[in-house]
Amino acid sequence: MINGLGTKTSCPVCKKQRNLQMDRVVSDRGGAFVVYNRCPHCQSAFLATISESRERGLLVVETLTDLSYQEALAVLGKRPLVADALLEIYETLYKS
Ligand SMILES: [Zn+2]
Repeated sequence: MINGLGTKTSCPVCKKQRNLQMDRVVSDRGGAFVVYNRCPHCQSAFLATISESRERGLLVVETLTDLSYQEALAVLGKRPLVADALLEIYETLYKS
């Protein structure tokens, strides 16, 4: 269903109509997708968080960003910290 989303939206920067593009997913964890979008008119970049709930249907929240697609992918595509990683950080900081 997410792939079939062809939503038109207006750019909050230049106010022109644009399509919400779904082909640059940078994260898809926890039932929410984060998709990178760029306005074709003013080139402003957005991270669209798309989630679905039974009560409210499809929810799209866009955030203006100055990240490139590659930077967003590098930052948001990382796995969350797990207990082993936290222990390793602790040991590095306090046992050296
Ligand atoms: Zn724009």
